[in-house]
Amino acid sequence: MKTIDSLGDLTGKKVLVRSDLNVPLDGTTITDDGRVRASVPTIEKLLAAGAAVIVTAHLGRPKGAPEDKYSLAPAAARLSELLGKPVSLASDLVGESAKATAAALEPGQVAMLENVRFDARETSKVDDEREALAGELAALADVFVSDGFGVVHRKQASVYDIAKMLPAAAGLLVQKEVESLSKAVTDPARPYAVVLGGSKVSDKLGVIANLLTKADRLLIGGGMVFTFLKAQGYEVGSSLLEEDQLDTVKGYLATAKENGVEIVLPTDIVAAAGFAADAEHDVVAADAIPADRMGLDIGPDSATLFASKIVDAKTIVWNGPMGVFEFDAFAGGTKAVAQAMIDSDGFSVVGGGDSAAAVRILGFDEAGFGHISTGGGASLELLEGKTLPGLAVLEG
Ligand code: ADP
Ligand code: MG
Repeated sequence: MKTIDSLGDLTGKKVLVRSDLNVPLDGTTITDDGRVRASVPTIEKLLAAGAAVIVTAHLGRPKGAPEDKYSLAPAAARLSELLGKPVSLASDLVGESAKATAAALEPGQVAMLENVRFDARETSKVDDEREALAGELAALADVFVSDGFGVVHRKQASVYDIAKMLPAAAGLLVQKEVESLSKAVTDPARPYAVVLGGSKVSDKLGVIANLLTKADRLLIGGGMVFTFLKAQGYEVGSSLLEEDQLDTVKGYLATAKENGVEIVLPTDIVAAAGFAADAEHDVVAADAIPADRMGLDIGPDSATLFASKIVDAKTIVWNGPMGVFEFDAFAGGTKAVAQAMIDSDGFSVVGGGDSAAAVRILGFDEAGFGHISTGGGASLELLEGKTLPGLAVLEG
């Protein structure tokens, strides 16, 4: 993969950087600025090299037309604070404002284009449409740097097509993400423990299938665990259950056995009367979930068990919270897993949007982890061992 250094002398060049600034917002307040912070090193490196930087990014899911609530203004303001310099935001993507902003930009200065998904061509399935937008973006700059790791699994104009039109390279974030996640998939130090949770088995089939042949231990929690427990013949009450995945899960259990992969399932469950922060709840054995209760977290014995399987591992990959961590009463399992990853001296990788958010929301020090991925879908696809279009196009 080509890196920024391969682009040669950038003095006086205009560099278009695709960043991932898709942050959660409460009105116009950013509730987790992790992705903005992750975009800073590449921008600073380019500025230090004497370039002018034009950032392009998306926010939320606008329907191919401008919508105030999806303006990148909050992200531009936060980026400006983090860089300690102004970030001028064009009022459009490739229109008069963008052209004027790009033309006026001097080396050492930073500008941002409005939400790239305000233009329907960005995500079009028609090559010509995407290429037309990519051409208009390319006209604003001399060089392209792909640093929006969260979108590299997308064949989109600002991710894929533009990389064919300008000299292009991966930014520091994309480089770090790929190195960390690839290491965990291709060359893990052992023992190698994989911790999977989150809401559904069906979201993670490819990841489970791929890691099942590579890991030494597979720990399962979160909403998906109930399909595993049911596959073992246990009743799961009103917990999240995907009946249509039972055979697939039975297949996973058999494959694990054949490959000598240790599957670790919870022995106890925090079972609640309903899905609410203040729902009445108790700890029950994993094989004795009452019919009218739903499991919202792994229990305390399981948390201790999971921690013991993580702490002495040399590689740990975690995707998916162990419980409904958004509610304090059901955050115990997720906290125990995060703490064990910090306590381990192995290389620990957190993949998945909600898992990364959980680490920050629950107050853990990000520096305690080997790598916290900024990309939900992209990190899952790398863990599946897939080829990602936005990365393939950067190969030199
Ligand atoms: P990631 O984004 O890290 O890949 P997912 O999107 O798969 O994770 O899942 C995250 C969600 O799973 C969280 O919002 C969490 O509340 C939910 N979850 C975890 N455990 C359970 C459970 N036992 N029942 C229902 N939802 C759960
Ligand atoms: Mg998620």
